Amino acid sequence: MIILIIGPPGSGKGTQIEKIAKKFKLKHIPSPGDLFRKIGDEEVKKYLSTGRLVPDELVAKLVFKEIDDAENFILDSYPRNLNQAKTLDNFLAKRNKKLDYVIYLKTGEKEIIKRITNRRVCVKCGKIYNLITNPPKEDEKCECGGKLIQREDDKEEVVRARMDVFRKYTEPLLEYYKDRLIVIDGEQPVDKVFEDICEKLQ
Ligand SMILES: [Zn+2]
Repeated sequence: MIILIIGPPGSGKGTQIEKIAKKFKLKHIPSPGDLFRKIGDEEVKKYLSTGRLVPDELVAKLVFKEIDDAENFILDSYPRNLNQAKTLDNFLAKRNKKLDYVIYLKTGEKEIIKRITNRRVCVKCGKIYNLITNPPKEDEKCECGGKLIQREDDKEEVVRARMDVFRKYTEPLLEYYKDRLIVIDGEQPVDKVFEDICEKLQ
C-alpha cells in the first residue's frame, strides 16, 4: 500500500503519519522539510525560513532515494504541486507501482493559525509544547530546564505565507487525485481523525 497525506501546515499530518505507518506497517518517507533539515544545506535553509518552495528536482532526488525499493510506504508532504505529482507517478509507474490513497486533512486557516502560533520549542532538547493544548509547567521553560522559543517558521506571517503556498500549489492536487482521495476533517481530536482514516483504509 502506498499512501500520501495532504494537509496545510499544522493540520496534524506528522502525528497521523506515525500512527498510520505503525498500524499498517508502512515505511515513513520523511518530508522534504525533514530531509533538508537533516542535510543542513545553506541554500535550502534560505527557502525554508521564508516559507518558499525548494526546487522540484532537488526534492525529487532526495525523496526517491528514501523510497528506494520499498513496497509499502507513506509519503509526507511530497508531492506538493502538480509537477511533483506527475514526476512521482512516472517514478512509480516505472516500478509497476502506483499511489493507492491520498488522504486530505481538511483544516481551516483560523484553526491553523491558532495551532501554530501557540507552538513553542525547547532550544535544548527539541521538545514541542503548545501554549493552549500542551503548555509547559513553568512559563517559557522546558521540563529539561531549557528555554522555550517560537520557531521562525511558526510566526504568523510565515504561517500565512505557507498557507498561500499551500493554496496555490498543493490544493490543485486534490483535483488531480480525485479518483483516490479520502477527505478527513482535520479539526477533530487526534484520535478521532485517526479513527476516521482507519475506517476508510480498511
Ligand atoms: Zn527541553
